[in-house]
Amino acid sequence: MSEAFSIGQSENGYFIRDAEGTRVSRVFRCEGEAEQELARLKARTDRVHRIERRSCLCCGRGFMSQGAYNRLCNDCSSAGGPPELDRLSTSTVRDRSKWGVRAHG
Ligand SMILES: [Zn+2]
Repeated sequence: MSEAFSIGQSENGYFIRDAEGTRVSRVFRCEGEAEQELARLKARTDRVHRIERRSCLCCGRGFMSQGAYNRLCNDCSSAGGPPELDRLSTSTVRDRSKWGVRAHG
């Protein structure tokens, strides 16, 4: 996997682009400014997308989280929760909608 952001150059100056080549910053006249912005974006991305082991908020099992937004294991985020939790706290299950579960695909 390549770096998410890189510095691009246009006739107007320098800018930050993402992995797909889309410009994600304003255009800087100086390359140093673009580099500074790039470092800032990378730092922010690293915090958000840091992959680490977390406990699933739904079933409590450990799993590899894709980032701060990712608090549910694959089973819970894709299958709507483990069946064994249905007979426990239904409020916990209902509250899952607040956690920003994202559907992929
Ligand atoms: Zn889970």
